[in-house]
Amino acid sequence: MKNFAYARASDTQSALHLLLQTPNAKFLGGGTNLVDLMRENIEQPDALVDVTGLPLDQIEETPDGGLLIGATATNTAVAMHRSVRERYPFLAQAIVFGASGQLRNMATVAGNLMQRTRCLYFYDTVARCNKRAPGSGCDAIDGFNRMHAVLGASDSCIATHPSDMCIPLAALDAKINVIGPNGERTIPFNDFHRLPEDTPQIDTNLQPDELITGIEIPPLGFAKRSLYRKVRDRASYAFALVSVAAALEVENGTVKNARLALGGVAHKPWRALAAERVLTGAKADLDTFRQAAEAELAPARGLAHNSFKIELAKRTIVGVLSELAERS
Ligand code: SF4
Repeated sequence: MKNFAYARASDTQSALHLLLQTPNAKFLGGGTNLVDLMRENIEQPDALVDVTGLPLDQIEETPDGGLLIGATATNTAVAMHRSVRERYPFLAQAIVFGASGQLRNMATVAGNLMQRTRCLYFYDTVARCNKRAPGSGCDAIDGFNRMHAVLGASDSCIATHPSDMCIPLAALDAKINVIGPNGERTIPFNDFHRLPEDTPQIDTNLQPDELITGIEIPPLGFAKRSLYRKVRDRASYAFALVSVAAALEVENGTVKNARLALGGVAHKPWRALAAERVLTGAKADLDTFRQAAEAELAPARGLAHNSFKIELAKRTIVGVLSELAERS
C-alpha cells in the first residue's frame, strides 16, 4: 500500500477544506471497500479525510413524513431503525443481506453508495480494465463474465454495481444531499450512479470535491408492504447474481401502485420503469407479473457465462410480486 496522509474532520466545512488541501485526496467512511482497494493498489490516494466524526449520523423524520438518513449513519443503525423496519422493510432487508454484522457495523450509508464494483478483473492489476486504467481494454468481455451485467452495459465495461442497500433506494426515488465548494445540491437517486458508456472509470455523478451529507427517503405508504430478494451462489457473504426490490399496492385485485428495482444486472441500481408501467392498473396476477418481467428484461443481452441471469431476473421478479400480492 502506498503511504498516505490522514486527517480527521470535525464538521463538513473542515472536511471540504481538508480535501482541497491535498490533490488526490479522498473521504474515508467506514473503509470497508476503500481500504481493501488501497491494499490492492487499485486506489492510491495521497491523503484520506476521515469523515466518520462528522455530526451526520442521525436518522430523522422529515416534515413531509419521509426519513432523512445521515451520511455517516452505519448500515447497522439504518437496518435496525424502527421507522425503516416498519415503513421501508425492503431497505432493512437489503442491508442485512448485504454484508456480515461486522461489516454493517463499520460501513456507512455514504460509503455504501460509493462502493465500487467487485469485478474480479478490476481487482487484478495484471488484467486489462477500462475502469481501473481507462483505454486499456476489458478482459471481462471475453473472459469469465458470470457475475456481469445484462442491462445497460457497454463495449467498454460490463461490470455490475455491488450494493444491496441501493436497490430499494432506487425503487423509493430517494434523493442524495451533497455539499461542495459551490454549496449544497440534491441529486435524484437514479441520477447518482452512472452507466459505463465510454467512461466506466466514473461511477457516479458526485463531483470529486463534493461530500455526501445524507439521503432523503420520501414518504411512500405502500412501501410498508415491500420485499427484497437476493439470489446468490451461497447463503451469506456473496454478491447478488440478481436481486429484486419491490413494493406493491393492490386494491380489489388490481395493482394501484408498484415500485421495482433490480440489482446484480447493471452498472447501476436498475429502476424497472418498464415493468412498473405494465403493472400499474393491471390485474395483480401471474400473467401481469410475467409480462412486467418480460418488458423490463426485453433489452437484456447475455454474454458467454451470464445469459442465465435474464431468466433468473424474470423469475425473481415474478416470485417477489406474487408474494407481495398474496400478502395484500
Ligand atoms: Fe474493468 Fe469493467 Fe471490464 Fe470489469 S467489466 S474488467 S470493471 S472494464
